[in-house]
Amino acid sequence: MPHTATEKEANPAQALLSKYFGYDQFRHYQADIIDAIIAGDDALVLMPTGGGKSLCYQIPALIREGVGVIVSPLIALMQDQVDGLQALGIRGAFINSSQDFQTRQGVEQDLLQGRLDLLYIAPERLLKIETLQLLSRANIALFAIDEAHCVSQWGHDFRPEYQQLKILADHFPGVPRIALTATADQRTRQEIVDQLSLHQAKQFINSFDRPNITYTIAEGGQSKQKLWTFLQQHHENDAGIVYCLSRKKVDDIAAWLSDQGRPALPYHAGLPNEVRARNQSRFLKEEGLIIVATIAFGMGIDKPDVRFVAHLNLPKSIEAYYQETGRAGRDGERANAWMAYQLNDVITLSQMLQASEGSEHYKRITLQKLDAMLALCEMTSCRRQALLAYFNETLDEPCGNCDNCLNPPTTWDGTEAAQKALSCVYRTGQRFGVSYLVDVLSGSDNPRLQNNHHDQISTFGIGADLNKTVWRSLFRQLIARGYLQVDVEGFGSIHLTEKCRAILKGDKTIYFRQSVKKEKAATSKKRTKAALLELKTEDQPLFDALKALRTELASQQNVPPYVIFHDRTLIAMAKDRPQDSDELEQISGVGAKKLERYGEDFLNVIAMNP
Ligand code: ADP
Ligand code: ZN
Repeated sequence: MPHTATEKEANPAQALLSKYFGYDQFRHYQADIIDAIIAGDDALVLMPTGGGKSLCYQIPALIREGVGVIVSPLIALMQDQVDGLQALGIRGAFINSSQDFQTRQGVEQDLLQGRLDLLYIAPERLLKIETLQLLSRANIALFAIDEAHCVSQWGHDFRPEYQQLKILADHFPGVPRIALTATADQRTRQEIVDQLSLHQAKQFINSFDRPNITYTIAEGGQSKQKLWTFLQQHHENDAGIVYCLSRKKVDDIAAWLSDQGRPALPYHAGLPNEVRARNQSRFLKEEGLIIVATIAFGMGIDKPDVRFVAHLNLPKSIEAYYQETGRAGRDGERANAWMAYQLNDVITLSQMLQASEGSEHYKRITLQKLDAMLALCEMTSCRRQALLAYFNETLDEPCGNCDNCLNPPTTWDGTEAAQKALSCVYRTGQRFGVSYLVDVLSGSDNPRLQNNHHDQISTFGIGADLNKTVWRSLFRQLIARGYLQVDVEGFGSIHLTEKCRAILKGDKTIYFRQSVKKEKAATSKKRTKAALLELKTEDQPLFDALKALRTELASQQNVPPYVIFHDRTLIAMAKDRPQDSDELEQISGVGAKKLERYGEDFLNVIAMNP
């Protein structure tokens, strides 16, 4: 039977989607998830960051009788989330430790008298006996357990209180529970099911692909300069995150970017709480700010228009890389995940691991994860295919939106060079690091070589035909592909692995990637920029004017600009130029409440910019 307009009206979830949120279609499995919850089933939802998890509990909470209770560890975000809901005309509130007694009492009254659609609660607060009693007197539509991977003791976001949340099943039988996470791996998923008693829950596993993110991993060396070029080419005015490994580097890079004229703020665990809170809130509220951070920054950054995530160091695993880069482009618009790393990162990460307290088993697994990350960096085929394959997902064709697809790296037959490099490692006793080995191969007059009599071995000077940068890149690739390994305890010394035998015996040909040519970077610049904005030049002035209005409204109301409208919605306004409120309502992202509140202001700006 064909879908008719009346049928659409008859579907309450669909009607709310356009009424409150201004969208006309559900994404991923949203519709199925919502149906399951409305029917009273439990659900486990895995969806990548930016996939649209919130609607999966917001809409059923509006449809089912009573209030939807959302358990979230992210206290700092609750105010923003509630502001966002109120801007949509949804009655949201939160209970957490940041509130004074009176405010909390007000919320409790609203709860008991059925004046709330959604209520956010931190897990430690929820588990208190008085909160459970309070909730049992209220009418509950559903429980949503957000960031559900926090139950996992293996993950870095572990919260012990999460493991007690299974009591919700006993205290509130018949109230559907929905657990949500963006963490992909199988083991975490099983832990969520076990720990939260979700054995009966329907599972919805959505694709982890983030097609709007362009992945780029740059060659080692001069990473600061490379970052600058990247920013100038692709993100002259955009907001983004730059991740560094150490606090000191965070401070240095933030200061350096500011000196260069780009507003940038540091964020790491060594800064006083109030400075961190202020920098985070400025990042959310201002446009075009860069935050330079250690991985302490991230969880719960609910900013949809982060246009780039740049790594100046190697993340410690593919999971970490995926999670950190996933903070880019949550609004679905084009975004860049860019990285420049150096061999030194591998050494530092290995040493940090060795110094840590974990068991041998833990250390071995962690090293394997680091190896997988390195392999992703040095591969010459589609990175997205490899990334998804790591999460057991198959992408049939190369993606066309990663550096290797856009500018296929040239490769060269490096079998002979690899043999020279490997035998040099062997002849010097597998005790030295890359720069020393490169000196031996190039026949350098470094006195250390002479002291060790390494100017007399057969590999001395046999690599003088290639320059040192090429040798360093070759060593990096040999390590990334598992022919060489960095000693965990030495100062960056490397040793041979079993795998090199075939190369040394001449049974295997090996190809290396050649440094990417500079000219190529320039062409991709134009393409990305044009696609990013999807705007014709003649529409740009209107877009800028709409953005200015948005900034003004946002600062009046003290909310982040995207709470007013997303970039995408402004772009659509600039292109379609709606003339009246009927036309404006057709624009994706304009729901009834926002139409009423902001419609006239935006229509005026459109009228004044013909
Ligand atoms: P998550 O929590 O999964 O990271 P969100 O729930 O914050 O993602 O949603 C990300 C963005 O996508 C939000 O701006 C949201 O409004 C938008 N969004 C969600 N569902 C849809 C949809 N069906 N159509 C268009 N935009 C959507
Ligand atoms: Zn690709």
